[in-house]
Amino acid sequence: MPLHLNSPLLDSEPLSQASHRRIRLKLDILQAPGSFKIRGIGLACESYARQGKQRFIASSGGNAGIAVAYAGRRLGIPAVVVVPQSTPEPARERIRQQGATLIVHGAAWHEANALAQSLLTDTDAFIHPFDDPLLWQGHASLIDELAACSAAPDAIVLSVGGGGLYSGVVEGLRRNGWDKVAIIAAETAGADSFARAIAAGERIALDAITSVATSLGARQVCEQAFQLSRQHPTRPAVVSDAAALQACERFLDDHRMLVEPACGAALALPYDNAQVLQDYQDIVLIVCGGVILPLNAPGSQSPHNDRG
Ligand SMILES: *Cc1c(COP(=O)(O)O)cnc(C)c1O
Repeated sequence: MPLHLNSPLLDSEPLSQASHRRIRLKLDILQAPGSFKIRGIGLACESYARQGKQRFIASSGGNAGIAVAYAGRRLGIPAVVVVPQSTPEPARERIRQQGATLIVHGAAWHEANALAQSLLTDTDAFIHPFDDPLLWQGHASLIDELAACSAAPDAIVLSVGGGGLYSGVVEGLRRNGWDKVAIIAAETAGADSFARAIAAGERIALDAITSVATSLGARQVCEQAFQLSRQHPTRPAVVSDAAALQACERFLDDHRMLVEPACGAALALPYDNAQVLQDYQDIVLIVCGGVILPLNAPGSQSPHNDRG
């Protein structure tokens, strides 16, 4: 039994009207750990459990860490999640809530990651947030679910951080014979490592992440995503932080769901009827979800403000 839900597919009237085309939403925000990440991480954890691994170790303060903690609890395998000091308290709380051991170490992710690596023994599995073929295989289930209930859309809109979701969606399109379905890959300016790699023709690394969309903050996309972008019809799209935050607010108004700025990046494209959509009439947008809420959204009130 997979650890993820078959997520609902919703026709969005507000987004279809804003963009003058059909927009359907694949609602992965409804996954129990709050994002699509459980698809790939769930599959990876199940398969490492079958190989006899006795502990999961991860180094993400965001949605990947929450998904690993959730998978560990569901499979009855202890999970250790190392987060940097920058990980906000609500995310730490969700990791502890799932019964994982939370270790706070270092100012930034690479320090937390170094500690996580140093804990690894032969009987542990390291769960990477985006660069593992098992993850891509699991994320591909998004497209299997779509193919089971729909004809091929013209395009899929999704957000790109390290490129795990993108790689999984390409795998899913291929295994369903939908090789021609385009992918529109949204990022925020300051976290646009994929768009820049495609423009440069090489897998460049950003000097720093300067966007509020922290879940998109991989300085460099994985090699798999870069290679696939040269084979699969892919259009990168970069939006401002302000546009992503505004999309989060509009989406809350329209659909009563609060998503991360990482997800707002994708939603901003139909809300602003971006040029990149012009060739496509029938679009499925992956509402990737996320629990790192847009605390800085102008005028937004967060229930977590008082907890630092
Ligand atoms: C991880 C994540 C992304 C980016 O996924 P990648 O596989 O790193 O490209 C986008 N949105 C949310 C909410 C995420 O948690």
